[in-house]
Amino acid sequence: MTLFLHDVTLTYPDGDGRLTALDAVELEVPAGTLTAIVGPSGSGKSSLLAVAATLVTPDSGRVVVADRDTARLGAAEKAALRREEIGIVFQQPNLLASLTAAEQLQVMAHLSGRPARQLRRRALELLDAVGLADKADRRPHQLSGGQRQRVNIARALMNEPSVLLVDEPTSALDHERGAAVLDLLVTLTRERSTATVLVTHDHAHLDRMDRTATMTDGRLTHGARPAEPPAAVPAA
Ligand code: ADP
Ligand code: MG
Repeated sequence: MTLFLHDVTLTYPDGDGRLTALDAVELEVPAGTLTAIVGPSGSGKSSLLAVAATLVTPDSGRVVVADRDTARLGAAEKAALRREEIGIVFQQPNLLASLTAAEQLQVMAHLSGRPARQLRRRALELLDAVGLADKADRRPHQLSGGQRQRVNIARALMNEPSVLLVDEPTSALDHERGAAVLDLLVTLTRERSTATVLVTHDHAHLDRMDRTATMTDGRLTHGARPAEPPAAVPAA
């Protein structure tokens, strides 16, 4: 199981008491499948991604990423796990204004110690995969909002993560461009066998996801849709 959360509870300090952001959450995401999470603002969706990304340690429960039980890892091991196994796409593409699309990806993977030429080749391959083969040398201000979000997604894949966590990637896009980004995420999940979790407010495309779940006041309810594996996934 590439991503596995069991009985995860997370609270934040809230005045004199605690606010329960995640309440006994269960989540299993096999490689090559995409789970969409919907739910109202403030229900705990981003907190769930932060826990899955090992950026936040829950009060209780198990978080297993790429077969590693994160409770057993020290801070440095967790940082390495994040770098090597987890790709994160936030709502706003945080691109560096002075870098080209290809360079955004190359700096991301710089820490991996791979040779520059190999990083460049991988960056161009990923930009091609997200439909931006001809935009590799553009800087952010020369790209549309949808194109910037594609660079953001490609960047998250630079280190070949086994887990891809995506928080509301279409909120700044119009309906058509948002749909294209969701399509792209489904395709990348299949092709790269990532365990993908997608937080979205866009209910229009949920039928294209493998599984859906709804967050309500920190409780995750799994959809009624059957979770049969998709046809095109290679054996993990
Ligand atoms: P969503 O992404 O669904 O909008 P969040 O996970 O961001 O929800 O937030 C869930 C709840 O936890 C909200 O009530 C929010 O105000 C609270 N919260 C989120 N982050 C923090 C934090 N760092 N400290 C305190 N409360 C937080
Ligand atoms: Mg959020």
